[in-house]
Amino acid sequence: MDCLFCKIANKEIKGDLVYEDDEIVVFKDINPVAPVHLLAIPRQHISSIMEIDKFEDKLTAGILKVISKIAKEMNIDGDGFRVVTNTGDGAGQSVKHLHFHILGGRKFNWPPG
Ligand code: AMP
Ligand code: ZN
Repeated sequence: MDCLFCKIANKEIKGDLVYEDDEIVVFKDINPVAPVHLLAIPRQHISSIMEIDKFEDKLTAGILKVISKIAKEMNIDGDGFRVVTNTGDGAGQSVKHLHFHILGGRKFNWPPG
């Protein structure tokens, strides 16, 4: 499949990885919008959270647990951080492989833009 994030996960394309296990990869966003801007992805390709039923509950929970662990390791949990999964064109999803932005290290406004 011609998918950028699949290629980063299987190392066909170089990514700046901060975590990986058999099912999940976390890497630095190439165009960071915060001092800490990571992307957490499942290795298995699904296009968005709208296909989450294809995953075992264990994997879905595993992604959230990894996000929590990485936030602690990156020291962004104290001041607060944001997790975002843009879904569909209206939300600005540009890469059609499920990914969770992990954003930290600055103040975030609400509502988002
Ligand atoms: P989204 O717009 O929510 O689909 O997010 C896609 C994100 O992928 C954007 O924040 C991009 O900066 C990021 N991105 C695109 N190409 C790469 C790459 N080669 N390595 C790391 N991040 C990337
Ligand atoms: Zn993919």
